[in-house]
Amino acid sequence: MAPPLSSWPWASLGIYKYFLLGPLVWKVAQEWAEQGGAPLGSRWLHLLLLFSARGLTYQFWFSYSNMLFLTRRRRVVPDGVDFRQVDHEWDWDNFLVLQTLIGAALVNGPLPLPGLEDLRVWDPRGLGIALLLHVGLSEPVFYWAHRALHGAPLFGQYHAGHHSTPVTQPLTAGFGTPLEALLLTLTTGVPLAGAFLMGAGSLGLVYVHLLTFDYLRSMGYSNVEVISHRVFEALPPLRYLIYTPTYLSLHHREKDSNFCLFMPLFDLLGGTLNSKSWELQKEIYQGKNDRVPEFVFLVHVVDIMSSMHVPFVLRSISSVPFENHLILLPFWPVALVYGLLMWCCSKTFLVSFYYLRGRLHQTWSVPRHGFQYFIPAAKAGINRQIELAILRADRMGVKVLSLAALNKVLY
Ligand SMILES: [Zn+2]
Repeated sequence: MAPPLSSWPWASLGIYKYFLLGPLVWKVAQEWAEQGGAPLGSRWLHLLLLFSARGLTYQFWFSYSNMLFLTRRRRVVPDGVDFRQVDHEWDWDNFLVLQTLIGAALVNGPLPLPGLEDLRVWDPRGLGIALLLHVGLSEPVFYWAHRALHGAPLFGQYHAGHHSTPVTQPLTAGFGTPLEALLLTLTTGVPLAGAFLMGAGSLGLVYVHLLTFDYLRSMGYSNVEVISHRVFEALPPLRYLIYTPTYLSLHHREKDSNFCLFMPLFDLLGGTLNSKSWELQKEIYQGKNDRVPEFVFLVHVVDIMSSMHVPFVLRSISSVPFENHLILLPFWPVALVYGLLMWCCSKTFLVSFYYLRGRLHQTWSVPRHGFQYFIPAAKAGINRQIELAILRADRMGVKVLSLAALNKVLY
């Protein structure tokens, strides 16, 4: 029998798990009808808005870290993500559903927190209290609980799944067992609960605290170095106040150091600081993992719908490249505008890569859609893009470059 809190009770529901939030939607609809307009003060509405904004924070970091034309040189682990990992992390947002349901139970419970009845928009005192409680309680509680999760038998029962993904992604931050999600709920909730109990809670604090927490979690898991090593050299104490994606990836791979939530200070105090953390961070920021591909395949965008399947939009959509989903239809005009912007401003760019027997293969895309290849006035521009890409590959030392069908026809 599986240990308690090691699997999600709604695992069999698939995508229908979002119906668990249905009662909140119903409450908002009721309030909307009663008030004859958007119930801007509704706690149910804010719980749903927070659910969306928090999910979008992880999505923002996912998109950024997978825009290889921006991040290629600063990737921490150079390997790509395989389909096993995509499947494994499919329900990465379970913790968001859980925390939204816990939030709903709290605001509707028999003992609501003080200040919830007459919720203020902002109280600056709350931010100071939450910060103190985060550093004084959440960080050490997470650190010691995380260390305990790495001992036997807890690691195998609760934490091994989270560590099974070789290349961290922002969505990996949310992937885990219910026990891990409850630990995160405790570490995020204690500063908020403290601020409300001391009468300094506010709606603004809930948004600022949760979104900052999610932002820092997804940054750490982004697998892209974002803070310059020069910042740490200029301000050495900062090393102990904020972690980096390299710092977290050392924990993810080696598993015996760097256990902290966001503040390496607690690894320093606990004697679990990985001595390579900042030297490696500097090397990665300077492009240690950047390498010249052996093989480049020069493609082009097929059509507007296919352009929304690129790896940096939605992982669930890009993992099924030949399926068109209705959810994409509202974004069709947005993708069209991006296509037109690419026509006037973009150069050939790196879309994806993979390793085959240790050799790096990259896919570059000419910033044109298939239909543009049949517009006589567009042909000279496309030819120029292909020529520039070939010259660039030659300068870099790429051994083989091959052209996708329409590029071959035109060049
Ligand atoms: Zn761990």
